[in-house]
Amino acid sequence: MKVLITGGAGYIGSVTARRLADSGYDVLIVDNLSLGHRESTGTLKFECVDLDDRKTVSRVCGDYKPDAAIHFAARSLVGESMTDPLSYLGGNVAASLNLFRSLVENGCRNIVFSSSAAVYGIPGSVPIDENAPVRPINPYGSSKWICEQLLGQFSSSGLLNFVSLRYFNAAGADIGNDLGEDHEPETHLIPRVVLAALGKYPSVKIFGTDYPTGDGTCVRDYIHVNDLAGAHIAALDYLLERGGSTILNLGNGDGFSVREIISLVKEVSGVSFSVSEEDKRPGDPPVLIASNSRAEFEIGWKPQLGIREIVRSAWEWHSMHPDGYSG
Ligand code: UDP
Repeated sequence: MKVLITGGAGYIGSVTARRLADSGYDVLIVDNLSLGHRESTGTLKFECVDLDDRKTVSRVCGDYKPDAAIHFAARSLVGESMTDPLSYLGGNVAASLNLFRSLVENGCRNIVFSSSAAVYGIPGSVPIDENAPVRPINPYGSSKWICEQLLGQFSSSGLLNFVSLRYFNAAGADIGNDLGEDHEPETHLIPRVVLAALGKYPSVKIFGTDYPTGDGTCVRDYIHVNDLAGAHIAALDYLLERGGSTILNLGNGDGFSVREIISLVKEVSGVSFSVSEEDKRPGDPPVLIASNSRAEFEIGWKPQLGIREIVRSAWEWHSMHPDGYSG
């Protein structure tokens, strides 16, 4: 079974690629290394490819002839998408269309797509199930929704089947394979708090303290990267064994506020650090919590790891790699 993995040098992609290879899949990683790390791909097959370059994408699909593809490669920062919408509405969407087209033209009909809870915007209620209205409030969420609609059209035209996985907040590290989260700049909450505990930042900033939540800070559903990797394997099995297309939320079903995450990192690390209260970050919904029952029903996936394992593994990995992969 041959699986093409775009963005396989990135955070979730590298953990999933390693897991697939360990499970006996033949894996080819394609990544332009603009955000990913060559070190994270280990000895897996790798080609440096920019998905903007349709000729090369088509050539790679024709040479490799994958049975399925997992499409991780994308810019994925809410804040950046507000200041640079074109990279999302143009870049992410155009690159994805190049890939979908090249796959179909080369006989690959199975795609797992990395989507996001950002498609829901500000949900009317939580937990959010897949029937909740889709109304993104930032270009990142919009770009994911446009790609899902493209996949829907490809699927209803009989060109391919897809599973779109709407991740909530990916976090934690794959300690067994020594793979973790290394973004430059780092904007995500858990690595930023852990790096503050390690003395890499002078303090942690809380973006917004008057949200309509228990303690006034945003609430998110954090899901361990190893659990996400397991969901991709289950999604591939669904495509290859049953066919059909579906959209699934991937979260733990529990919400934690920014302040709760900060307290937990202090507890796990045993380190105190200063915290400042700042203005809201534009584009942030107050609360995102998943209902994950459809994923359990359709692909038999259930998360195994909770917030303590997430924070502990992040703390361990960053303690071993305070400068990320380059350290
Ligand atoms: N956040 C924060 N301080 C930080 C980084 C993030 O208060 O240094 C908040 C952010 O505003 C959001 C939550 O933490 O409410 C999760 O943000 P993250 O960027 O990790 O994920 P997102 O939900 O944006 O995908």
